[in-house]
Amino acid sequence: MTRADAVVVGAGLAGLAAARDLEAGGAQVTVVEARPRVGGRVEQVQGPDGRRIQLGGEVVGSAHTSYLGLVGELGLTLTSSYVTEPGEITRQIPGSVDIGEWPSWCTPADREASVKVQEALAKVLASIDPDDPWSCPDLERLDRLSVGDWLREVGATPGVLRLWELSHLSLSDGSIERQSLFAYARKTVVGGTTGSYDVEQWENLRVAEGSATVALRMAEGLRDVRLATPVRRVQIKPSGTLVTTEAGEQLHADAVVIAVPSGPARDIDFEGVSHARLASLRRQRHAWAAKFVAAYDEPFWRTRGQNALSECEGILGSTWPQQHGVISALIPPERYAAFVAAEPETRTREALAQIADLYGSQASTPLQTWTRLWGTDPWAQGYVTNWCPGDVMAVGPLHGTHEPPLYVCGSDQWVAGYMEGAVRTGRGAAAAALAGK
Ligand SMILES: Cc1cc2nc3c(=O)[nH]c(=O)nc-3n(C[C@H](O)[C@H](O)[C@H](O)COP(=O)(O)OP(=O)(O)OC[C@H]3O[C@@H](n4cnc5c(N)ncnc54)[C@H](O)[C@@H]3O)c2cc1C
Repeated sequence: MTRADAVVVGAGLAGLAAARDLEAGGAQVTVVEARPRVGGRVEQVQGPDGRRIQLGGEVVGSAHTSYLGLVGELGLTLTSSYVTEPGEITRQIPGSVDIGEWPSWCTPADREASVKVQEALAKVLASIDPDDPWSCPDLERLDRLSVGDWLREVGATPGVLRLWELSHLSLSDGSIERQSLFAYARKTVVGGTTGSYDVEQWENLRVAEGSATVALRMAEGLRDVRLATPVRRVQIKPSGTLVTTEAGEQLHADAVVIAVPSGPARDIDFEGVSHARLASLRRQRHAWAAKFVAAYDEPFWRTRGQNALSECEGILGSTWPQQHGVISALIPPERYAAFVAAEPETRTREALAQIADLYGSQASTPLQTWTRLWGTDPWAQGYVTNWCPGDVMAVGPLHGTHEPPLYVCGSDQWVAGYMEGAVRTGRGAAAAALAGK
């Protein structure tokens, strides 16, 4: 049996940030990670010409203060993300590809309705306190309501509904018909905006060395990170905590930090943890999404006045320029089953055909492509949380809180997910554990 002050389960951004702060606070820490690498949902591979290709989390925004602070501490560099790419957005639905702010199928009546929807949204947002979303007087109703139902309630036309659905599919965290209005509004408010999702707050920056380098850099500074060591059991006893790995090794500690997504958390046996805590921890569901990346010599889309940013109704829900000559794309949950059902060569061919439909035939001949199926990865079991109608109330106010000596962190433990959520909650868990709270 090994002994530590704290065992951290999971070496994603959250677990690593927690371990780093715990060690800085003088604790003896052991990190146990199921995969043979650190980073979790941030992962990078070496592409052609040495480009570092991101297969997981990629961009951050000005509102992501914890993440930006950590990047500074690690001596890494922030640079502009796709938002500075010249050219215009593209929208693709069956039968049409439109370049520019408004697609051709949006009528003047749709534009008018869109303004009214924004006004109605501003009222919802004003009812939520970013520092205490739980105090919202209308929380239960807003959580029960799907974004789609609310849009119809406030007079959205079919064109506006379709625009919102396209935009939600592009983020791949669930259709407007399967997303809680409260969850959507809470995330928007916490990002510091009074209108709908603002890319400046959420997506305007990226780490020049590669977002997965943040995880690698943190791990380099830690004393004891055990890879390929899945945890099976966590027991909270009066004498301390006992963590048992799949191989049967036992790690004894004063505290344990759970830094795994809710899917894998359901597969761990917990003992000595309250029923309410476990119910909350395991209640979240994840959007099953995949990422597809294609690397080219040059950003060929620029000659057509496009910025490689798109919202689509094909097998891909969105594309954006990851870096010079590289296109990232997401396969949203609504299309995931159809994507995974095909064998890998067919998936690649169909994804490239869609990119060619958007940006021209040069898209069909990339230097290399990568596909990462996050939805069915056993150690992620999804991409980000999909807050369905009613889920905020069902997960309840224990979300993101601790039950000492059990501490909980991870992007799914923050109201909005993202790499920011991982770092913020990881550092928060370490601070709470060091203070014994
Ligand atoms: C395709 C994709 C694109 C994304 N894009 C962005 C983006 O652009 N910007 C952004 O901010 N966010 C983005 N995200 C979200 C962001 O990457 C994640 O929210 C964040 O990285 C999660 O960090 P985490 O530490 O909370 O969880 P994870 O990274 O999932 O880490 C959990 C760790 O626990 C390990 N683990 C699981 N079970 C066990 C077990 N039983 N025993 C031991 N270890 C275990 C896992 O292997 C993993 O390493 C994206 C995510 C994906 C998948």
